Amino acid sequence: MAQSKSSLVTADVSTHPCVRCGACCSFFRVIFAKDETHPMSHNVPKDLTEKLNTDERIMIGTNQVKIRCVALTGQIGQSVSCSIYENRPSCCRRFQASYENGTHNPNCDLARKSKGLKPLRPQDFPRPEPTPKAPPVDEGTL
Ligand code: SF4
Ligand code: SF4
Repeated sequence: MAQSKSSLVTADVSTHPCVRCGACCSFFRVIFAKDETHPMSHNVPKDLTEKLNTDERIMIGTNQVKIRCVALTGQIGQSVSCSIYENRPSCCRRFQASYENGTHNPNCDLARKSKGLKPLRPQDFPRPEPTPKAPPVDEGTL
């Protein structure tokens, strides 16, 4: 979900497609185990969540017809971020942008389509050029 992918920790955040999207954070219900609000777990801010049932909580804003997670800031399709990135629930951590790690995620496509955004393609995640190998050392000249 927006600026919430685990790879954003290492990827160049400024070029990551999620920071110009946010569609999944305003499309899916964000449900997680109630224990995830505990400091020993993900420490999801409890005041941004509501009780769903005896075992689960849900992000405020995602249990309604017009979904938008309360933690999402910015404008969908332009510039967004997750205001609780370090403490986001497990479902957000698991959700991968399509082809981010080479795997297609139809749910990413579905969310983007709902906001009028095209599906991501493998080339939206350019791989770094392989480092050229050093020439072999001619031991006879040392
Ligand atoms: S908690 Fe963050 S990553 Fe998860 S849906 Fe809300 S804004 Fe998106
Ligand atoms: S819908 Fe896909 S591209 Fe958009 S924020 Fe979610 S994971 Fe990223």
